[in-house]
Amino acid sequence: MSTREKIQWLGMELEVPDDWEIVRHSTGLSKGRLIFIDRRFQRLQFAWTACEKRPAETRIVGDFRARDKEEDQSCTISDVYRIGGWRVYTRRNDATIITRAGLYDPRCKRWLDCVFSWPNGREKTIEENVLTSYSSQNPGASIMHWRAFGLDMDIPAIWKIRKAEVFPGATKFVYEQNNCSLTIRRRAMAPYYYCGSVEEYLAGKTAGNTSVYRGTHNGHHAACARAKERFFRPRWLKGKRKVTRECTWFCDSKETFFHITASSFISRPADFKNVVVRCCN
Ligand SMILES: [Zn+2]
Repeated sequence: MSTREKIQWLGMELEVPDDWEIVRHSTGLSKGRLIFIDRRFQRLQFAWTACEKRPAETRIVGDFRARDKEEDQSCTISDVYRIGGWRVYTRRNDATIITRAGLYDPRCKRWLDCVFSWPNGREKTIEENVLTSYSSQNPGASIMHWRAFGLDMDIPAIWKIRKAEVFPGATKFVYEQNNCSLTIRRRAMAPYYYCGSVEEYLAGKTAGNTSVYRGTHNGHHAACARAKERFFRPRWLKGKRKVTRECTWFCDSKETFFHITASSFISRPADFKNVVVRCCN
């Protein structure tokens, strides 16, 4: 049995087998989904929809079952049963089994819908483990946990996710608040482009006359930079001038670069000290 990997996304949390990968993701608070595949098949679609009040759960699941039957007359649909708070049923056609599970989470006020696909052999334990591992953060919490695509972070909840870009070996999360931005980048496969100096790496990434200084991050030697916006602004706009702060470090045990960039107004510097980006420890 494979080990499990914790995924934390938009205040929701679940554990999946560690060979499942996210191939589609959404950052919408009110509606979205994560799609997981393993080496061969799509395994799970985990979808959420904002729902202020508890919906008629029995009716929703009943509608799903009716629609499934309509779609495929020859399929067999099981009765609804419970796993934790989830209402679960299966749809079977020959060797293929689809398991569907629905849950209303009153804490984050979302209706959750899990669809597992088993084209050749259902793994019930995996389903149960995924479903029972689900939990959510208190929406009033000041810190939100994020864990996916090789990043493991605590981000103050005032930062709202704007986008998550995922490429092979690289990830970029962008958060925003009041015209300020926070960007977290992760870049793996370092031996192909790393010259051995984290300062040079950062200098190559930052514009012009930014001065780069030495720091530490997670026990690693880090390169940091701070640059004020250069172009002229009238005096009354002075407080609106922006400052960009950067910190990059190389995690040797993961052979990965991490890079935090934060851009905020000089007059109202954003609070970055609670931004935690974990690497090897
Ligand atoms: Zn590290």
